[in-house]
Amino acid sequence: MIGVLALQGDFEAHRKALQRAGVGAHDVRSRDEILASTGLVIPGGESTAMRLLMEGTGIEGAIRAVADRGDPVLGTCAGAILLARDVEGPRAPGFGLLPMTVVRNAYGRQLDSAVVRLTDISRAVLGEEPLEAVFIRAPRISAVDEGVEVLARRNGDPVLVRRGNVTAATFHPELTRDSRVLTVFLSGRASA
Ligand code: GLN
Repeated sequence: MIGVLALQGDFEAHRKALQRAGVGAHDVRSRDEILASTGLVIPGGESTAMRLLMEGTGIEGAIRAVADRGDPVLGTCAGAILLARDVEGPRAPGFGLLPMTVVRNAYGRQLDSAVVRLTDISRAVLGEEPLEAVFIRAPRISAVDEGVEVLARRNGDPVLVRRGNVTAATFHPELTRDSRVLTVFLSGRASA
């Protein structure tokens, strides 16, 4: 049973996308519910709000435990920001589950939201078909450490990355009918 972190943001769309793909999914709001899940999605929304709602709840530690034990973790947009090691714009602490730097709201007002067909994708992992991606006030992944696989880029910037069992997308795969990002997430394995 995959847990979808339901503190804030578009958790409902994620739960429905998983269920549409035939994957058991439920909303999780507490440390214990997260620990009882066999995988976790951290949705898009507002990363600052989510961070505040998590304070003092033990949720961050539970997310870390799920990732450390090798279960798949997916962060999209605000969720990707929370998973990063370094967050800028403004500077904030990240969970450090993905060794990368993200810059919040980096694409500016004119470019901030768009539907794009991504063609610069890992064909070995995602196949030939371009990946439709919905960006909403997306963060920019400005740097990734060695060991982080880049599975898709937009104008050269990484937008879908993973390391072992932890996957992050700066776009919203839950808003399209394409289930390839879910497949990548669910097949994630611990690298160590
Ligand atoms: N701009 C949001 C943030 O910085 C992320 C936007 C999203 O999740 N769609 O948290």
